[in-house]
Amino acid sequence: MLKITDLSKSFGGKQVFSGISAEFEKGRIYSITGPSGVGKTTLLRCLTLLEKQDSGTITIDDMPLEEKRLSIGLVFQSFNLFPHMSALENITFPLIRVKGVSKQEAETIARGLLEDLGLQDKADFYEHMLSGGQRQRVAIARAMALAPDFLFFDEPTSALDEDLSESVGNVMLKLKEKGMGIIVITHDLDFAKKISDEVYLLRETLIRRELDA
Ligand code: ATP
Repeated sequence: MLKITDLSKSFGGKQVFSGISAEFEKGRIYSITGPSGVGKTTLLRCLTLLEKQDSGTITIDDMPLEEKRLSIGLVFQSFNLFPHMSALENITFPLIRVKGVSKQEAETIARGLLEDLGLQDKADFYEHMLSGGQRQRVAIARAMALAPDFLFFDEPTSALDEDLSESVGNVMLKLKEKGMGIIVITHDLDFAKKISDEVYLLRETLIRRELDA
């Protein structure tokens, strides 16, 4: 379980959020919604160790997040693919570097993931040769390859049309079936309602939203 307790963050004396507590289970999808500027990305950055909260704790299975960093993965809003690497290399590189997997094994895993995401014919393509939706799926495959317990998505549908949003939603549902916990930052309430087990509204603190409201 990913547990947040009494989390607060401010920038230059301006409080972004305070007193946030929540629990996220593996095998479930959570969305965090809220208006622009409310602190969704800041919260996500704290949950992925890119930003340090002012106070409060984040644990995974009762261990400090810092000790469980391999348990979390992030798909950035801008995907952050390595431009000088092919789609395949984007996936194999972290596997080899972070997990110490052999090149051959990494390629087998990467090809399997590309196939799962309908990108088997794009293995040798570079970022500039891929569409926005294809880039996103490579970024998802790269994060999936490291098999985190919790995978975070920052505004996953903001660059996608309706069909692609649906297919990304389907990928998330598959990850959930595999037992991954998914936390999605989004301002797309319709998308959030469609895929999530629980939807939260961030507004200084986290408020649970009724799904049929
Ligand atoms: P959006 O939906 O527009 O992406 P958001 O809810 O994700 O917005 P954040 O990006 O988390 O909001 O920003 C929350 C507040 O914190 C904003 O007022 C922003 O200006 C401020 N902020 C974010 N990062 C920094 C920083 N590094 N330094 C100073 N202020 C920051």
